[in-house]
Amino acid sequence: MQIPGHIDPVTTGTVPLRGGNRIDLVGLTRDAIGGVLVEAGLDAKAAKLRAKQIWHWIYHRGVTDFEAMTDIAKTMRPWLTDRFIIGRPTVREAQVSNDGTRKWLLAAADGQEYEMVFIPDADRGTLCVSSQVGCTLNCRFCHTGTMRLVRNLGAGEIVGQVLLARDALGEWPKGTMAGFGADPEDDDADDDAAGHYTADGRMLTNIVMMGMGEPLYNFEEVKGALKIVMDGDGLALSKRRITLSTSGVVPMMARAGDEIGVNLAVSLHAVNKEVRDEIVPLNRKYGIEELLQACADYPGANNARRITFEYVMLKDKNDSDDDARELVRLIKQYKLPAKVNLIPFNPWPGAPYECSTPERVKAFSNLIFKAGISAPVRTPRGRDIMAACGQLKSAATKPTRAELDRIAEEKQAALG
Ligand code: SAH
Ligand code: SF4
Repeated sequence: MQIPGHIDPVTTGTVPLRGGNRIDLVGLTRDAIGGVLVEAGLDAKAAKLRAKQIWHWIYHRGVTDFEAMTDIAKTMRPWLTDRFIIGRPTVREAQVSNDGTRKWLLAAADGQEYEMVFIPDADRGTLCVSSQVGCTLNCRFCHTGTMRLVRNLGAGEIVGQVLLARDALGEWPKGTMAGFGADPEDDDADDDAAGHYTADGRMLTNIVMMGMGEPLYNFEEVKGALKIVMDGDGLALSKRRITLSTSGVVPMMARAGDEIGVNLAVSLHAVNKEVRDEIVPLNRKYGIEELLQACADYPGANNARRITFEYVMLKDKNDSDDDARELVRLIKQYKLPAKVNLIPFNPWPGAPYECSTPERVKAFSNLIFKAGISAPVRTPRGRDIMAACGQLKSAATKPTRAELDRIAEEKQAALG
């Protein structure tokens, strides 16, 4: 395992190409697609036009086959197929919870596994996306943190989750593309008849970077993926519908605000050093004061766009009335435009904590609400299929307590 604690500590490694020698276009910027087309022999002008068309087919129409790209000359499609692919993660397992939550176990081209979760609600559908295989950090209440094997996911593997979710939900627009006329170079343009197509009602409306991994330890790839997700000529999700959750990688927070600009959620979980050091060990490196100051400075946060503080409710650990009062005091001291999300602890095999009682959670929430700060309790979703917050882990093994302690120690030592 690489040393965590640096800004971007985990390498992506060399992942074998899914399509043999063919290049996977998913995850590349529009310019980079143009670049690989030039390398393959197109002149710059043609490459730019093709990149624009291919982009639209990949991210707006969800196409994975160059033969379906009807505004590209028929003769050119096999040329593309020989050189490129439009990949998807492999689905190892797909599960549906009795509350409608869906979880997919995915495999990358190198066989590494990661999970993605879709949470349907009446007014929205949220996709919970992973940024790493495992996590170098080791929050004591989090199942993902017990995974030893860690690598960063590439931008293509991150955005690939969104594409796959759209596939699974059947959400790509259907019909032909009006306005995207026939290819002027195509002498057989009969299949390019202009028509109209409709973007169907969307189930997938929101994205949270809250799956496996610490997104700010994989900044460049997460940024690249989210830029693609937000691109207006593709998936076109608004930055207001995307939330990135960090356990508190302070040095990367300002860049996240400036360069990605999505909503921020911070896994606070405790209000004093002793408890946070224990349950979120990264706190020993970046303490609560530093973290809250970085929140106060977060670019783009204001009363209309609040920072969410996530707070897992652990019985007799962080759930007292005094903890709630201290949380309010801290939010006020740093003048934070904040809301609090109380997350009942989701158990997993071997977890060293219990969830607070519903009465305790309610009392905690009430105290914060009374101080004028919103503090809803997040309803656990998908617990029956281990899809709820903090339950994700790709191998369903049950390590012994000694093994869990050893992994925690190793990760802590690496943190420095
Ligand atoms: N690594 C990032 C994002 C992924 S975790 C982070 O830590 O913020 C998404 C959220 O689930 C975090 O707030 C995390 O602290 C919380 N979580 C982890 N394990 C949990 C568990 N067992 N029960 C409830 N929430 C948990
Ligand atoms: Fe990693 Fe987040 Fe889990 Fe902590 S809570 S171990 S940072 S995934």
